[in-house]
Amino acid sequence: MADLTALPIRDDLRSLTPYGAPQLDVAVRLNTNENPFPPSAMLLDDLRDALADVGAVLNRYPDREATALRTDLAAYLGHNVDGTWAANGSNEVLQHVCQAFGGAGRTALGFEPSYSMHRLIAQGAGTAWVSVDRAADFTLAVDAAVAAVTEHMPDIVFLCSPNNPTATALPADVIAAVADVAPGMVVVDEAYAEFSHAPSALPLLAGRPRLIVTRTMSKAFAMAGTRVGYLAADPGVVDALRLVRLPYHLSALTQATARVALAHAGELLSTVDLLKSERDRVASAMSELGLRIVPSDANFVLFGRFRSAPEAWQRLLDRGVLVRDVSSGRHLDGWLRVSIGTPGENDAFLGALAEVVTAEPPVEEQS
Ligand SMILES: *Cc1c(COP(=O)(O)O)cnc(C)c1O
Repeated sequence: MADLTALPIRDDLRSLTPYGAPQLDVAVRLNTNENPFPPSAMLLDDLRDALADVGAVLNRYPDREATALRTDLAAYLGHNVDGTWAANGSNEVLQHVCQAFGGAGRTALGFEPSYSMHRLIAQGAGTAWVSVDRAADFTLAVDAAVAAVTEHMPDIVFLCSPNNPTATALPADVIAAVADVAPGMVVVDEAYAEFSHAPSALPLLAGRPRLIVTRTMSKAFAMAGTRVGYLAADPGVVDALRLVRLPYHLSALTQATARVALAHAGELLSTVDLLKSERDRVASAMSELGLRIVPSDANFVLFGRFRSAPEAWQRLLDRGVLVRDVSSGRHLDGWLRVSIGTPGENDAFLGALAEVVTAEPPVEEQS
């Protein structure tokens, strides 16, 4: 990166590092938790038709309210349209939340290790970040969560269920307890909800006007390239987000593409069961290799521990398999994260991993 010290950049940005999952051209890419299955020919046919219709009016601005798309998303969630919001990825949804409810002089709190973008988006909006540790097994107990929120009284609390990168889901009682003591907004990031056995926080929204549930079309929905994320909340929250969104933030092409995907929801989500059984297969094969794995409720698995996770990551890459090196995160020394791919990709990963583990056995855990 260029030297930023010469630029009059905000002081609070100087120490930050940009989000940077490597985008490398290798055979087996299991590092960003996408659904490995591309859209079907049937979906692509419908997409061509929809984009031709939109293309005919590309001289006009799109529907600023994305009403048709939000109506489809609301129907998918079983939530009301007025309380459903969409943007370019759930990252932009989270940015809208931080712009409206965070900012200078305000704080956001997260339980780490968790999704690194929560912190980055909060800080990008000028919000101070408070990091609270999860337990050693990466779980979060009701007492610990409530104590942290009561101590820091943050303007925004981030919960993530299932949590990235640990893949652990939160029980509903933790979410309800945090929502009931938090003085500000509580965001439950459910990017991986479709893969989880744990119940969604959606039923908790009733009677809790400061609770927000965010979702994405990037993971189970197999539409990462479309860039659509959404949230469900009280309609008042959506009114607040309208103050900070840019006019026409969702392009006509994006809205149309997402609607075609939602019309094919059954087909797109039909891969979820296969991915879950592949996840369980990959996890037990990794255990048999002598690795520690964290029980996963998502489409990825945290595994370790390696004496040097960056070296193990490189050895896998040398064998054509790209996983995620998360080991620089809080309490993640020695850990790597693998996304669940197609059965063939998973076999390639397990084959490469067996060689890596033979060359460099995992660290023995003392209890
Ligand atoms: C992948 C991911 C997102 C999704 O981001 P998009 O901008 O919707 O692609 C959000 N939260 C978590 C925890 C994630 O892992």
